[in-house]
Amino acid sequence: AGKHNGGDGYSFFDDSMRQAMIERNQTLRDLKLAVPGNQFELHYQPILDLDSGKITKAEALIRWRHPTRGLISPEIFIQLAEESGQIIEIGEWVFREAAKQAAIWQQSYSPTFQISINTSPLQYRDNGIDINSWCHYLEQLGLTGQAIIVEITEGLLMESSSAVKEKLWHLRDAGIEVAIDDFGTGYSSLSYLRKFDIDYLKIDQSFVSNLSADSEDIALCEAIIVMAHKLGCDVVAEGVEEKDQSQLLKNAGCDFGQGYLFSKPLSASDFTLLLNSPNRPNDSYKDSIDTSP
Ligand code: C2E
Ligand code: MG
Ligand code: MG
Ligand code: MG
Repeated sequence: AGKHNGGDGYSFFDDSMRQAMIERNQTLRDLKLAVPGNQFELHYQPILDLDSGKITKAEALIRWRHPTRGLISPEIFIQLAEESGQIIEIGEWVFREAAKQAAIWQQSYSPTFQISINTSPLQYRDNGIDINSWCHYLEQLGLTGQAIIVEITEGLLMESSSAVKEKLWHLRDAGIEVAIDDFGTGYSSLSYLRKFDIDYLKIDQSFVSNLSADSEDIALCEAIIVMAHKLGCDVVAEGVEEKDQSQLLKNAGCDFGQGYLFSKPLSASDFTLLLNSPNRPNDSYKDSIDTSP
């Protein structure tokens, strides 16, 4: 390809490809410095109990405060971190940071408050999460496994390697709850939900964003919710942006909601303000979630 460009056979790609390669390599180099350089931050998005309107959990979402490029989204760097193996170290940092924050909010807000963290399938390989050391860390903070929920992908559940199985079982034994993230976008065997005693299904936002009373998506959400409950899982709807969606989901029996309707992801200090604010969703959503038939 590119020969018709008359050059060395690569000229067709030269600029854009070389530029992309340079940027990628630079990002990879920078990524190595990010944990030691304290450049990661967790932002927190509230998860509301749709019955009470209370914030009972938060999802921790990583951001990279790059020294020159500003705040970088996980969409940009998580895959690179997976390819380079950095994700293991990042995953450990995320766990510890979230655990420290859970200790703070369990003290200041609610003793049952939970923080849900995202994990990469690579963290379930042999050199990945050491659940004993996680338990030890939680203990040092005065926490039990209850403080943390780990979000995994549907795909991980289908991986049959013994390391994966062993780690999932060990998490359960430690009292750490497990959620399937982006449920409905991959494919997972329902029997695995029961087999691993999964605690939560998080319905992917693509099913939530177009919800209306007569849409096929509401039928799909209702079916997921009924099935999940039969299998002993609670359901979290992701990407709830409209009051109508929240109401439809609540009517369908959905347990928890998360999305811009309630709040965007916030820095830890802004999240603390939200928890302490007189207008926190706790109170305001009792009125704004319309409970009339
Ligand atoms: P996710 O776990 O499915 O997280 C939900 C994403 O949807 C977040 O994007 C969140 O900001 C966004 N979101 C929340 N509410 C709404 C809404 O109402 N509307 C819309 N359109 N979007 C909403 P974010 O923070 O950019 O994270 C993207 C993905 O990056 C996450 O998807 C997760 O897969 C991954 N990720 C984030 N943090 C971590 C981490 O610490 N470790 C790993 N391995 N992956 C992470
Ligand atoms: Mg998630
Ligand atoms: Mg998700
Ligand atoms: Mg259960």
